Order: sequence, then C-alpha cells, then structure tokens
Amino acid sequence: MGRTIALANQKGGCGKTTTCVNLGASLAEEGYSVLIIDLDPQANATIHLGINIHKLNGSIYDVLIGEETDITSIILNTPIKRLKIAPSHINLSGAEIELVNTIGRERVLKEAIFPIKDAYDYILIDCPPSLGLLTLNGLTTADEVIIPLQTEFFALEGMDKLLKTIQIVKEKLNHNLKITAITPTLFSKNTKLAQEALKKITLHFRDEVTSTIIRRNIRLAEAPSHGLPITVYAPSSHGSLDYKRLALEVIKR
Ligand code: ADP
Ligand code: MG
Repeated sequence: MGRTIALANQKGGCGKTTTCVNLGASLAEEGYSVLIIDLDPQANATIHLGINIHKLNGSIYDVLIGEETDITSIILNTPIKRLKIAPSHINLSGAEIELVNTIGRERVLKEAIFPIKDAYDYILIDCPPSLGLLTLNGLTTADEVIIPLQTEFFALEGMDKLLKTIQIVKEKLNHNLKITAITPTLFSKNTKLAQEALKKITLHFRDEVTSTIIRRNIRLAEAPSHGLPITVYAPSSHGSLDYKRLALEVIKR
C-alpha cells in the first residue's frame, strides 16, 4: 500500500515546498512512483517542476470545487520519470471560502484521491503556509506528516499550535495520522545561531527529528527558476545529497 505524506508547517519559508519537490524527486530516482499534490495557491511546487501555470487545463482547484473533475484528468508528467504532479492554481486561494458551506469540507481531498491512492508508492502533499481548510484537507488525507523546521532562533515558535492542530485532526478526522519526521532545514553550520537552534530542536523532539539535516545550499534556491528538482539541476550539490539522504531515511521510517 502507498504512503500519503503531508508536508506541513504554517510558517512560510521553512522549506515545505523545497522538501516536497526534492524529496519527491529523490524517491522517484530510488524507483518509487510518486505524486505531488500542490495544495498551495502560490503553486510553487508546480512551478518548481517546470509546469507553465498559465497553460493548465485543470488544477487541484477544479478537483476540490468542481465536483465533476476526476483527479486523474489533471495529473501531469514532470521532468523526472515516475514523478507526477497534481498542479495548483492561484484560484485555489478562494477555495477555503468556497468550501466553507460544503458538507464534509475537511474531507474533500481525501475523497477525491481515494481512487488513485494505491496507484502511487508515495503521495506527497505540499500544504500552504497556514492552518486553514486547505491544510486541514491535507492532514485529513495523509497518513503521515513531515514537518520541515527552519534552524533559526524562532524555530520552536508556532510548533505548539501546529502539533495541537495535528492532534485535533487525529482525534476528529483522521485517527491514523502520525508524525513521521521533523526535518531541520536551512542549516548553516558556521553560524552559532543555527547550531543552537538545531540543539534545541533535537532536545525537544528527539526521535522525531531526522538524522538528515538539510543544509542551506544556494543550488536549492536556484533550482525552482530552472523548473528542475535538485537531483537534476545540481546532482552533486550538498542540497541534492541531503535530499537523497532524507529519502532513504523516510523510506525506512
Ligand atoms: P515554504 O514552502 O515552507 O514556504 P520554501 O521551500 O518555498 O518554503 O523555501 C523558502 C525559500 O527558501 C525558497 O526561496 C527556497 O528556494 C529557499 N530554500 C529552501 N530551502 C533551502 C535550502 N536548504 N538552502 C537554500 N535555500 C533554500
Ligand atoms: Mg511552499
């Protein structure tokens, strides 16, 4: 059976999308079939995979809002073999409001992906930087969560709220949900601040923290503008090595 994993953290800029795309590409290169679901109206994951968001025939918005749209009809190929994407669109920003009066509004995505759940080894859901209805749909659909956590002074700020939200989803909507990994990101080994943040994260979350730490690497920041994951854009960079390592760790968890 396939695994469905949400990348979640209401903080923007902590590496959700970077992790989703590059972990996805690394898993695909290990031979697994992977689908990325882009749940962020900013469509960063979609753009990162070289998709022209102005020429889409359909997006995850149509799947969530247009009851007729079958998710298989919007899934696109990417530059990576075995890696596919269900693209996002800016009109997804209205979805939270449009869904408010829908019955079972937290379960719309779960129902939509039900027919394809076992067609992939991994489904990775890139959540937006909020704890709104889209993220709730992501957490209700997933079996697992990976939390990218930036190694900065404020690293733990906001984690209470995120963990509480995950707990509530687990109790009310998705009993099987579990936190698979907390992954430190944007780590600069030469700064004392980053080292202290990493120590704090490790002490606080212990076994949940991956032994893989994603280093700050300029190649990771450049890759999106080339429409390529790091495994192709700069295969021998630190960024590529870190995400390959993370993939191997996630496979075992
Ligand atoms: P989120 O999806 O959580 O908002 P992103 O993955 O988009 O965060 O990352 C925010 C910004 O930081 C992006 O410009 C991205 O390219 C950059 N970035 C993310 N991780 C790294 C890293 N390890 N090294 C360098 N830049 C990174
Ligand atoms: Mg993002």
